[in-house]
Amino acid sequence: MSYQQLPSIDKLIKSAEGVRLVAEFGHTAVVNVCRQLIEQGREHIKKENELPSFFSNIALTLDEVKHHLHKQNQVNIQSVHNLTGTILHTNLGRALWSPPAQQAALMAMSQNVALEYDLDMAKRSHRDNYISDLLAQLTGAEAACIVNNNAAAVLLMLATFAQGKEVIISRGELIEIGGSFRIPDIMQQAGCKLVEVGTTNRTHLSDYRQAINENTAFLMKVHSSNYQICGFTKSVSEQELVNLGEEYHLPVITDLGSGALVDLTQYGLPSEPTVQEKWQQGVDLISFSGDKLLGGPQAGIIVGKKALIERLQTHPLKRALRCDKVILAGLEATLRLYLQPEKLAEKLTTLHLLTQPVETLHNQAEQLKNALEDYLTPEYQLQIEKSLAQIGSGSQPLARLPSVAVTISTSISGKLTALLTCFKKLPQPIIGRVEKDKIWLDLRGLADIQALVTMLNEQEKMP
Ligand SMILES: *Cc1c(COP(=O)(O)O)cnc(C)c1O
Repeated sequence: MSYQQLPSIDKLIKSAEGVRLVAEFGHTAVVNVCRQLIEQGREHIKKENELPSFFSNIALTLDEVKHHLHKQNQVNIQSVHNLTGTILHTNLGRALWSPPAQQAALMAMSQNVALEYDLDMAKRSHRDNYISDLLAQLTGAEAACIVNNNAAAVLLMLATFAQGKEVIISRGELIEIGGSFRIPDIMQQAGCKLVEVGTTNRTHLSDYRQAINENTAFLMKVHSSNYQICGFTKSVSEQELVNLGEEYHLPVITDLGSGALVDLTQYGLPSEPTVQEKWQQGVDLISFSGDKLLGGPQAGIIVGKKALIERLQTHPLKRALRCDKVILAGLEATLRLYLQPEKLAEKLTTLHLLTQPVETLHNQAEQLKNALEDYLTPEYQLQIEKSLAQIGSGSQPLARLPSVAVTISTSISGKLTALLTCFKKLPQPIIGRVEKDKIWLDLRGLADIQALVTMLNEQEKMP
């Protein structure tokens, strides 16, 4: 087998199809792909002493070139079906944006917007202003500052008020959140000294009091979002800390994590502390995420006293941590939904998913089971079962939500793993969870049953 049988780049790009590809993708990209394929062909001849099949005629070669060019245009961040039963799944991108947020973001990304431009006064205004007013209206707090995520919010608060100083925090609240966000590490990055008080399970007000000295910057509470300490426990409430802070003129800062803006129990969901309630207890600054229970884009939101927020806004780090116009537009549109609380469960996608009735999920499970029956080979058994979903992203880690799942089992060893691999290779991969030797496809976090069923119906039987 000789290398002479490989076509030249010139021959490929001057063929009729080659000329068409150059017109569509440009000379550089087409030549690069041709070169790669010819190189592959050489390697193949060297190893196998034969031409790769796509070099058997020029039409097949150009088909391969076209395939590679199209593939170059596909982004690697791929959409998936979330059937894990975890609604706010950090590894799957947390909250889905509600339609009004999507529209606002699309507007902001495709048009110029008056981001830092006051249309009434014709002078430069602040990019967080609109949202700050809205959050003040929704939470009662005086002002707000928006950054990229809640980790950035904590960093900015510490750097602004506690650089070179001490921050007092309970040992029971020195948390690590997935993706190695550790409170002690953030403290170090912000250049402040962590003063741990109490023990893992018990912290008293007197522990805080004894740790206060002239170098103390503020008292901090961190919501224990992804774990719970049970049994013989004692922690100090925000209310008590606020009283102590007032005595020593020290601000109290709370990292709330998820930070609900409405009382979730009215929807039959587990209770999660609200931002409003922390503000009413007198906390000076409260930080929380935009893409957890709030149901909006990734962002870190800090609300609180105006004088403190202004210092955050003017700290040099704020410039590095600020959000872009697309996120701000999406966040504002998300927050506007909260102005109509009776409509929230219908319009805010996250809350809609969390509150779907079990009967709806059951109906979806039947559709999914039917579609899977045609797709799966006979060694798999399908069942519809009661399931327990969870909110995710550290909200109420022990609470479970009633849900429904299609479960898949098989008596042939190795077949379950094979199916999981197969699910991952679908055009829009299916992500479930494995429990009790079964695959559980939990319907509560699924955004689009129709898309899922259509995709499965378009597949040949599983390989
Ligand atoms: C989730 C969480 C964070 C991190 O928030 P991101 O928005 O992911 O940066 C920080 N603190 C607490 C208590 C959390 O629950």
